[in-house]
Amino acid sequence: CGIVGYTGHEEACGIIIDGLKRLEYRGYDSAGIALQQQGELIVRKKKGKIADLEKFIGSEKLTGTTGIGHTRWATHGAPSDVNAHPHTSSDGRIAVVHNGIVENYVELRQKLANEEKIEFRTETDTEVIAQMIGVNYRKNGGNLEDAVYDAVQEMRGAYAIGVIAADTPDRIVAYRKDAPLIAGLGGDCKFIASDIPALLKYVNDIYLIENDEMVVCTPDSIRIYDENRRPVRREVMKVNWSI
Ligand code: GLU
Repeated sequence: CGIVGYTGHEEACGIIIDGLKRLEYRGYDSAGIALQQQGELIVRKKKGKIADLEKFIGSEKLTGTTGIGHTRWATHGAPSDVNAHPHTSSDGRIAVVHNGIVENYVELRQKLANEEKIEFRTETDTEVIAQMIGVNYRKNGGNLEDAVYDAVQEMRGAYAIGVIAADTPDRIVAYRKDAPLIAGLGGDCKFIASDIPALLKYVNDIYLIENDEMVVCTPDSIRIYDENRRPVRREVMKVNWSI
């Protein structure tokens, strides 16, 4: 239900959890976070409130300057630790957060099970996205943007997704179709989020992402592409509300 992503030079964990708290008004039943940490992905997720996730993380120091977080409002698969986001590909190299619904997930799941011998670990529609991107990424030699773009071509439904990869440092790839998504421009850090309040503490410059657009964030840049992968020029929106 809520997405926050950060890539920059500071520890991402606290920033992402702070952003998720500012999206609590949207309602949710679970929360989780994935961080890119020296060629690995660290995932922590928990049914319940963000406070439960924080308690679960406890005093463990979760380092990493690129990450994605999620508050889930379950549509497919009961609220549980394992069904909470982020979801990962079987090899653990791709992590995905997702708002919305993949309508044709049963068909996609079948195809991945038959053709790629994927064993699914959750009952969610979202795991299909992580597994598809994982397969694409492995087959295309590790191009995350291509892997995400090719996966969404197969998906029907309404979704905003944020994706990171263990082997693609300092990068978040996101895609929007009929679910809210914005990007935030800091000096040497960039964000994605479902809604503006998540980011107001950190940035005032926002891009509103439109349907069928892909966003690629690195600490220094945000690139936006249309559905045919042509670069899009978007005006920066200045937000001066205080929270
Ligand atoms: N359909 C996904 C799930 O049930 C995402 C729900 C959401 O938007 O939070 O896990």
